[in-house]
Amino acid sequence: MGLIHAVFDGMFRQARQAAKPPGERWPVWLFHVDTGGCGGCGMELQALAHLPYDLRGAGFGFVETPRAADVLLVTGAVTWAMAPVLQAAWDAMPTPKGLITVGACAQNGGPFFAENYAVMGGLERKVSVDFSIPGCPPTPADVLAGLSALFGGRVGAAAAPAR
Ligand code: SF4
Repeated sequence: MGLIHAVFDGMFRQARQAAKPPGERWPVWLFHVDTGGCGGCGMELQALAHLPYDLRGAGFGFVETPRAADVLLVTGAVTWAMAPVLQAAWDAMPTPKGLITVGACAQNGGPFFAENYAVMGGLERKVSVDFSIPGCPPTPADVLAGLSALFGGRVGAAAAPAR
């Protein structure tokens, strides 16, 4: 299948820290696509975008268009209906670019693990996903810790309050 054939662009992976370290001034921009599921992971990402989480302080921010994004965050059960949307978002992103699955559904299907007429059972079955943030759902703090670990950023107490 053609969905996201260049997951985690090699250039991006090798050069992410040198080219664009996360910081308030030049954040790593995130674009989120929810592909189905219960919506729980999407809600956690929405929470991450607001106080008390200091996403910008940790060096990240959300954008409204994939054309401005560095990283595509995928949540949800990856329905076949959403596959063209996912592909279009990926194609619209400039290179270097990366893809991260957030939550069990996007990674391996979670409760929707069986591939059928409606869902593809998780992205890792279809493409080589290089980074996944596990959980059902992962908390905003989990997502922020995962992003910071991947990009070498720091999550201070203000950026990731205890829950
Ligand atoms: S991983 Fe869990 S919380 Fe996230 S969309 Fe799937 S069922 Fe919902």
